[in-house]
Amino acid sequence: MPEIDERGSSDRGSRDHDAVRHIVCPADGSAVGTVPEGDADDATRAVASARRAFDDGPWPSTPSPERAALLHRLADLLEEEKETVATLEAKDTGKRLVECRIDVDDIVSVFRHFASLAQADAGRVIDTGMPDVSSRVVHEPVGVCVLITPWNYPLLQTAWKVAPALAAGNTFVLKPSEWTPHTALWLVDALARVGLPEGVANLVLGAGAAVGPPLTTSEDVDLVSFTGGLVTGTAIAEAAAKTVKRVALELGGKNPNVVFADADLPAAIDNAVTAIFLDSGQVCSAGARLVVEESVHDEVVDEIVRRAGLIRLGGPFDDDAESGPLIHEAHRDKVHDYVRQAVAEGATLRCGGEIPTEGPLAAGSYYPPTVLDGCTRDMACVHDESFGPVLTVETFSGATREEAEDAAVAIANDTHYGLAGAVWTENAGRAERVARRLRHGTIWINDYHPYVPQAEWGGMKRSGIGRELGLAGLEEYRETKHIWHNTRPAPAGWFAHGPADAGV
Ligand code: NAD
Repeated sequence: MPEIDERGSSDRGSRDHDAVRHIVCPADGSAVGTVPEGDADDATRAVASARRAFDDGPWPSTPSPERAALLHRLADLLEEEKETVATLEAKDTGKRLVECRIDVDDIVSVFRHFASLAQADAGRVIDTGMPDVSSRVVHEPVGVCVLITPWNYPLLQTAWKVAPALAAGNTFVLKPSEWTPHTALWLVDALARVGLPEGVANLVLGAGAAVGPPLTTSEDVDLVSFTGGLVTGTAIAEAAAKTVKRVALELGGKNPNVVFADADLPAAIDNAVTAIFLDSGQVCSAGARLVVEESVHDEVVDEIVRRAGLIRLGGPFDDDAESGPLIHEAHRDKVHDYVRQAVAEGATLRCGGEIPTEGPLAAGSYYPPTVLDGCTRDMACVHDESFGPVLTVETFSGATREEAEDAAVAIANDTHYGLAGAVWTENAGRAERVARRLRHGTIWINDYHPYVPQAEWGGMKRSGIGRELGLAGLEEYRETKHIWHNTRPAPAGWFAHGPADAGV
């Protein structure tokens, strides 16, 4: 793997004098490709291009059936080129190819979902009670949208933004993560191939700190939709506030997975393992915080620890691998520091917690599945997102049914995040009661992780502002306008000296 420099970036993330960036696979440090590196001027030019295409181009007024047809053509192309796209994503992220193929299927569904919505809800007619007045509410595109995306699900997170932006008739500037640019390059080329007019889709590659400010502060940008970390999202919201842009934020999570003693424990345990260790925990909705009833703690946690130790790590094309590396060494080191601090705070390290230094895993930025037991609400590790394969375990108990539920809910809501969570119980009434009390944007009952593009996704509290997917995911990209039409104009007659006095 490349050396890490003092700024915490590697060769893979550094910009050289020819303004290119070398992308390598985090599984083994192999070269993936070299892409152009944008700067602030490129970002400014991209915004100008999107502005021109919005103000003077055909896309905003293209009939919605044509916009929907284009999105379907893009979905068709994704299906045709699935293996190419999945391979690009696997090399950039180090994620297993089999998972990347599933991601492409999800991306196809997202484009088809928003294609189906493009013609939906054209507006509404208001009954004013005045026969000569027509009053209606219509939807229009917001304008120029800046779409900033992370590295963990690069094209999927991009699709959640690009598909509704195009369905609603906007133009956009896409800024993918500098670590994973290749599927964004594929997408912009693919949109041109399916007939998107010039200037509607614009791409800026490069480091967020360099290209971000022109994108988030420009007067010519109407909306910024960002998915990424809390610190970056807060800075973007502040930058965008000066020009009062619309801002949509999809941020992090520290998601509670609540297991009651009356749950189907084999299912709860198996899903708890998937909830946190899928994609090495680099999932915003990862079930990173196990909240388990004390009476079944040993049974549940011992088995999770046993299973965690058996998970096989490996690269994207290793058929035996069950999970992959972290995105880069600096992130892996951050996760390791998080674990060390948790242990220093008093957590018990049950498994993992060591950076592999021998064998094939030493060539990549791998981190083993790690379980921290005996955590309590006062510890930083149960509140901070590690974004790695690290599970914290807390217990709850109560003398009565109500007390147990109160204790579980209090722990699960004690976080400034509010993205997702789960409750495991065979008692349907308890499942509903607890699900309704949890302050998180998605709640799974007796399940973990599935989502469908038809249902809204997003966070409460510091997990974000707004929603993606569902119907609300389209509304983010639409303005609402009220048009009042008086078909029989007449003087207002409000003031005493009207048109008649002036001899008009
Ligand atoms: P990040 O915040 O470091 O970067 C996200 C994007 O922002 C990148 O494209 C980056 O280049 C850009 N950026 C950085 N500084 C910027 C600036 N000043 N102006 C404009 N853009 C800037 O996040 P990441 O490390 O790429 O992703 C991991 C985070 O994303 C985690 O916290 C995770 O929870 C979150 N995430 C959330 C969701 C969700 O749906 N809520 C989904 C995926 C990831």
